[in-house]
Amino acid sequence: MKRRDFLGKAALGTLASAGILSACNKTENNEATKTSAASATTPATSQEVIKWKMVTTWPKNFPGLGTGANNLAEKINQLSAGRMEVKVYGAGELVPALEIFDTVSRGTAQMGHGAAYYWKGKNEVFQFFSTVPFGLTAQEMNGWLYNGGGLELWQKAYASHNIIPMPAGNMGVQMGGWFNKEINSLSDLNGLKMRIPGLGGEVFKRAGGTPVNLPGGELFTAMQSGTIDAVEWVGPYNDLAFGFYKVAKFYYYPGWHEPGTTLEAMINKEAFEALPADLQAIVKTACQVANHEMLAEYTSRNNDALDTLVNKHKVEIRRFPEEVLTELRSLSDQVVKELAAKDAFAQEVYESFSNYRDKAVHWSEYSERAYLNIRAKK
Ligand code: CA
Repeated sequence: MKRRDFLGKAALGTLASAGILSACNKTENNEATKTSAASATTPATSQEVIKWKMVTTWPKNFPGLGTGANNLAEKINQLSAGRMEVKVYGAGELVPALEIFDTVSRGTAQMGHGAAYYWKGKNEVFQFFSTVPFGLTAQEMNGWLYNGGGLELWQKAYASHNIIPMPAGNMGVQMGGWFNKEINSLSDLNGLKMRIPGLGGEVFKRAGGTPVNLPGGELFTAMQSGTIDAVEWVGPYNDLAFGFYKVAKFYYYPGWHEPGTTLEAMINKEAFEALPADLQAIVKTACQVANHEMLAEYTSRNNDALDTLVNKHKVEIRRFPEEVLTELRSLSDQVVKELAAKDAFAQEVYESFSNYRDKAVHWSEYSERAYLNIRAKK
């Protein structure tokens, strides 16, 4: 039940004119712990509901991504027991998808849900906090961000924009994309027009292809009409929903360009700092929960969708040849190193990221990789 249901406008007016609401807020800020302990027993009438807007880069209710943003808002609303009310706006509802960063930075919306690589125009180093080709898996991204110094660097990167970032979703390893042509060597990518954004797109360009960035909603038609020759979107769950199997022959793997993209919650700094300590903890916790829940959802739905694509729609799954992947890997290293050379901060982020990756490669040899290899043996 919503707190404002308890509290009529007249009552709010009375409280406000008596200076009680601002006095309550002041107490909350100064004595956060005390207020937090008291709030469990204090009647609802002593507080005003904090209303936040969450703008997103996803179409409203878009499966997995838009619904992930909805889930995050719902968590904050539930955990705060109605003391906060976060309302989600899909792309274009309040502002266009790619304007949400500035909107949160200005404080017009208190919160946003997107992915850091969308803001590479602000600073190319931001891309490290979403994904880089041949980078970290979802599990490793969480390790780097929460325990390996990654989140502190991310916060430093967004600080001058007045934004506090938090991980808030991951889709796991993506697929390599849909093609109508067999990819047998790197030269098969030559002249190919493919929807592949970000650093992956830059690598694809150096391999001789033409990367195109189109929004999700236009991809099916672009493939059908031949405007593009190939497309990468996410993985089985989202790709099945878009119906790419109707317009492409081969579904290639692995998604070398997006091995575990972290999605982000962006929070306006003043809005966050104005919250009492218990609500700050609730917002942080809700982001962590949403981060884990999205990965669980994608893991499970990808399993089912892959089954449908292969067994019902008879999609032909192909692995990129080893030689192609090796070439793409070396081009990726080149692209990422060039990015790191831009300035001292980019170098600092690159070193933190690549040191973590080196250790993760070492450990995964004896853990995930060793286990998955043996589990797959028939
Ligand atoms: Ca993708």
